[in-house]
Amino acid sequence: MNLLDRVLLSGTVEECEPLTSRVRRVRIAGPALRGLGWVPGQHVRLKVGDLLTPRAVLSGFRDVLRSYSVWHYDTGGALEVCVLDHAGAGPGALWARRAVAGQRVLLTRPEGRLVPRPGAPYHLFAGDETAAVAFGAMLRVLPEEERVCGALTVPAAGDRLPLPRSGELTWVHGDGVADPDALVRAVRGMSLPSEPGTAYVAGEARACQSVVRHLVRERGWPRASVRVKAFWAPGKRGMD
Ligand SMILES: Cc1cc2nc3c(=O)[nH]c(=O)nc-3n(C[C@H](O)[C@H](O)[C@H](O)COP(=O)(O)OP(=O)(O)OC[C@H]3O[C@@H](n4cnc5c(N)ncnc54)[C@H](O)[C@@H]3O)c2cc1C
Repeated sequence: MNLLDRVLLSGTVEECEPLTSRVRRVRIAGPALRGLGWVPGQHVRLKVGDLLTPRAVLSGFRDVLRSYSVWHYDTGGALEVCVLDHAGAGPGALWARRAVAGQRVLLTRPEGRLVPRPGAPYHLFAGDETAAVAFGAMLRVLPEEERVCGALTVPAAGDRLPLPRSGELTWVHGDGVADPDALVRAVRGMSLPSEPGTAYVAGEARACQSVVRHLVRERGWPRASVRVKAFWAPGKRGMD
């Protein structure tokens, strides 16, 4: 057993099912996952590759861990991740595609600062299919009386994740959605109150940057009111 195996939490894949045509939900359970201090929006890092292979060493261990937002956490000892099976099919996407019940999984404790800010005047969500996983967990815990809005880009209507308060969000799909500017166009088109709320921006790196720039420079929001996390970028492997 190597050091990473000792440090990581151990769980077992309990079930896998398609959540949409391209996103697979994987439920991981085990005693080590009991009572974790998870805040909705946080992610875990799964060990998706071998540590002790020449390829792992040569790549600077780039392909060993991948980050996934926790879709649902059960304090009794189970958590769910939802992984997009994208065309680039790196080790993370392949891991989720091949995951089967009974398989052992190693993972880190939940971490991350993309979490809801309670009491914000309103909450704005902007991102893509990968971001929708964290947003789902966050939306589930926001009080009903707090206003939410936002824009989510997905290739087609069938790719919408089943999010709470989905009807309060603008779903953008169809031709042109692969354009990194599609997200900022949708946010720019939204009618928002004159005072800033709190924004949560995640997904493809360039699309995230454009939305942050728009909110701060064009709408005059304080930068501190925007929580952003780039999840992936074309040509880059294993962002964290
Ligand atoms: C905090 C955090 C939370 C995340 N949460 C989720 C989550 O809940 N669900 C999820 O699916 N992913 C999530 N991601 C992204 C995830 O960590 C991986 O980056 C992603 O699964 C790609 O890993 P891979 O090994 O398959 O491909 P990589 O080896 O990382 O990438 C190979 C190539 O595939 C392409 N690529 C990567 N991702 C995409 C994509 N989404 N669409 C199109 N092309 C792509 C890129 O060109 C890349 O160079 C999260 C990332 C972070 C940092």
